[in-house]
Amino acid sequence: MNEGKVNLAQMALRQIEIAAKYLPHMEPGILEKIKHTKREIIVHFPVKMDDGSVRVFTGYRVQHSDTRGPFKGGLRFHPDAHLDEMRALAMWMTWKAAVVNIPFGGAKGGVECDPRTMTSHELENMTRRYTWEISPFIGPDVDIPAPDLSTNPQVMAWVMDTFSIRKGHVVPGVVTGKPLELGGSRGRFEATARGLFIVAERAAHSRGLAMKDARVVIQGAGNVGGTAARVFSKAGAKVIAISDINGGVYNGRGLDVAKALECKRNNNCFKKGEIDGDEISNEELLQLECDILVPAAIENQITEKNANALRCRMIVEGANGPTTPAADMVLREKNIYFIPDILANAGGVVVSYFEWVQNLQELFWSEKQIYQRLKRILSSAFDEVKALSEKHKVDMRTAASILGIGRVAEATRLRGIFP
Ligand code: NAD
Repeated sequence: MNEGKVNLAQMALRQIEIAAKYLPHMEPGILEKIKHTKREIIVHFPVKMDDGSVRVFTGYRVQHSDTRGPFKGGLRFHPDAHLDEMRALAMWMTWKAAVVNIPFGGAKGGVECDPRTMTSHELENMTRRYTWEISPFIGPDVDIPAPDLSTNPQVMAWVMDTFSIRKGHVVPGVVTGKPLELGGSRGRFEATARGLFIVAERAAHSRGLAMKDARVVIQGAGNVGGTAARVFSKAGAKVIAISDINGGVYNGRGLDVAKALECKRNNNCFKKGEIDGDEISNEELLQLECDILVPAAIENQITEKNANALRCRMIVEGANGPTTPAADMVLREKNIYFIPDILANAGGVVVSYFEWVQNLQELFWSEKQIYQRLKRILSSAFDEVKALSEKHKVDMRTAASILGIGRVAEATRLRGIFP
């Protein structure tokens, strides 16, 4: 396989084909159905920019499956946001919700833009107009967006406000990842990172590795990567490197994570001289010798080109789609244990589910309740995936796909084909 930038939609379809081999009872028609997205919305909409000009943006909402429950998935603001990427990410959301067995389907959306070049006012205008355009297709019973690349609780608040204005009454359950003051859930902001830790700890334990003193390398320092750095180091692991889009910082003795993140917050990068560590590129970071590598930035980072140079014992995927299928083959040969995105980063969607449930019942849970329930769900999902990987003698990605895709296929079969 010659890999430049791998087409994510093809990668997602390939994973279905692989999983299907272990699901002999799946009817061909069902397989064909789940390979397709249910609805793909593309909107072109104008936004008044701060200099008085009008710019037309392109936004997407791809809804893959609502067989097991309402569509669910993040919104990303990114220059590379396009239809194929959304298709793959929406499919992975469907499998992810099924792996952790929560009653959601999968979707993904976003706007093609570079938020780093936009003011907060322009981002708000763009978010509101995008929400307005997709409003007929979302809602608490229909499709519930959440934060993803370059979107955050403030963006979710704008989505909720715009949708509520359109409906004429407040609708907190239309998005998750909202600020607490607007019906957000305790623990949602940290949920993906905490989930990563829960899964990493279980995986490490199964390999005889203790989290205390484990050397951890993290690519990405946003919601997932930055929070993971805090969570892992609080648990006694040694975070030896972290990066953002501009590059990273490395200290083999362990970074002062709080200081590194403060530097990043103040300067919008890991500034040389302010952190006790050496500058490092993202490419070098991925090749550092470590116990656990956490890719938590974007897709297509571990490829056929660099997989051979990796020197980690284990990979826990914080990002969606960070590893290509050809790289998976190399990792298997190198005996690097990898925990796939649809299991490893599912903590976000699990606590999003808790937020949605709390919004529907208008009764809120404590952080302790949230964490206990999150731990219970992720631990049992990990155990189920591990058991399947041992039963079929396959890697954890294939096992997670068998579990997730198998559940969606069975739900599809039970519902039947209408009419
Ligand atoms: P974010 O925007 O908060 O952070 C992204 C980080 O990645 C930033 O530090 C950015 O500088 C860095 N980055 C971007 N492009 C990069 C590149 N080319 N090389 C290196 N670093 C780069 O986004 P996030 O919410 O932390 O999401 C990160 C990943 O995790 C995405 O793949 C997302 O789909 C996935 N994810 C997020 C959640 C969630 O709850 N936010 C849940 C599950 C999965």
